[in-house]
Amino acid sequence: MSVPPCIALIAHDQKKDDMAEFARQHQAALSRFRLVATGTTGGRVQEACPGLQVTRLKSGPLGGDQQIGAMIATGEVNMLIFFIDPLSAMPHDVDVKALTRLATLYDIPMALNRATAAKFIDFQ
Ligand code: PGA
Repeated sequence: MSVPPCIALIAHDQKKDDMAEFARQHQAALSRFRLVATGTTGGRVQEACPGLQVTRLKSGPLGGDQQIGAMIATGEVNMLIFFIDPLSAMPHDVDVKALTRLATLYDIPMALNRATAAKFIDFQ
């Protein structure tokens, strides 16, 4: 049996409620994938959907975004759902840029807001 593709989930603080709601709405679809997430986002997703198995990495500002970037480069992460907050300055802005750059470079599907993520998951 083949290993399912892996989706990385990240949401900035003002978008975490959105991510929890998105996960609840699309729980059945998400359960067909392996899931990794930055620390706090992963906790919120697990709380919202106790049935989903989520591998939690470090929190984004503490290196979680970079961990996911590395996993994209090694082929361990195949898709990125990243709910970005465009209204807040981020101490780890450079990590966010590096991550979206790698997702672009390795040409993996990347959804940066909920509307795109919803389309994206419906197509899987
Ligand atoms: P968090 O990280 O899920 O640990 O909050 C997300 C981020 O801000 O990059």
